[in-house]
Amino acid sequence: MKHRLHCFAFLTLAVLLFASSCKKETFDGPLPKVHIIATGGTIAGTSTDIGYEAGKVSIETILQAVPELTRYAELDYEQFCNIGSQDMSESIWLPLAKRVNQVLESGKYDAVLITHGTDTMEETAFFLNLTIHNPKPVILVGSIRPSDAADADGPASLLKAVQTIVKPNAVGKEVMCCLGSKVYEAGAAFKNDTHSLDPLSETSVDWYLPHNADTGFFIDNLEELPEVGIAYGYGSNSTVALEAFVNAGYKGIVFAGVGDGNLSQAALDFAAQAAKNGVMIVRSSRVPYGGVYTEGGEVDDEKLGFIASGSLSPQKSRILLMLVLSATRDIDVIRSYFRQGVFDHA
Ligand code: ASP
Repeated sequence: MKHRLHCFAFLTLAVLLFASSCKKETFDGPLPKVHIIATGGTIAGTSTDIGYEAGKVSIETILQAVPELTRYAELDYEQFCNIGSQDMSESIWLPLAKRVNQVLESGKYDAVLITHGTDTMEETAFFLNLTIHNPKPVILVGSIRPSDAADADGPASLLKAVQTIVKPNAVGKEVMCCLGSKVYEAGAAFKNDTHSLDPLSETSVDWYLPHNADTGFFIDNLEELPEVGIAYGYGSNSTVALEAFVNAGYKGIVFAGVGDGNLSQAALDFAAQAAKNGVMIVRSSRVPYGGVYTEGGEVDDEKLGFIASGSLSPQKSRILLMLVLSATRDIDVIRSYFRQGVFDHA
């Protein structure tokens, strides 16, 4: 009898615990307010004969497929653009960052969610992370399958993203990227698989930058950013790509070098001359892990006038260089941004 009572008490406790853990997913008070900014991507894509086309359906249509979202947040939305993120550019990033700042500063919203293609999600997240001046959560969400696929993955990602940003511990983080059941922060996130349903991964980064009022770059008065290109390295690298960027008047070039950010002798000589002529050369690597540092490598950055990218990938180095060049051309200051992040430059 005593044993049965124990069982009964245990079962009752288990049911109560289960019920209270379910309840945590819903809210007693007013729901948090989330503003959605739609930019396109596969999450807004539709199927075609050969595969699909990104950026075709409206955010309204996307949201209709996930009515459950309204259990977690009060939502409103705007269609900012509707493109494949391979066409994302600084001419969209600047107004997008200004818009996110404006939405968060309005005081009407608790968080911003941005629908976005996965190809360049890490770049937009990194750009926003350096230009948003409010600690409220900002998350980018995408999908691998188009919106009309029978097994579309966008709805589950959207749900996960909303559930993530309405939690109190989402405040004071970096801009986040959400795909499927996983969430990554902007500094570390990178796409490392072309087809997987879980295509994002993380690299280790030297610096962590939760967006807040004081850090990062203030872009309100900027209408454009200095042009910076990326040249991809390979054995016995020719100088053709570097020459093309220099001749086109680019202010900076990121070299995605081989191994520890190495360049062929011809590319090294050309880049050193370009650096002497005032083009900022950042030495990064096509290898996704480990970073590129001046210390302990084969290239004398100080002597040649180069900047080591530290832990940043070529695509993130490009973004940091564009933003830094909009503020300064002092190579020592630029080097310190790559080494320490933007903490010391608040
Ligand atoms: N090309 C698409 C884009 O980035 C791919 C995706 O969303 O996964 O917009």
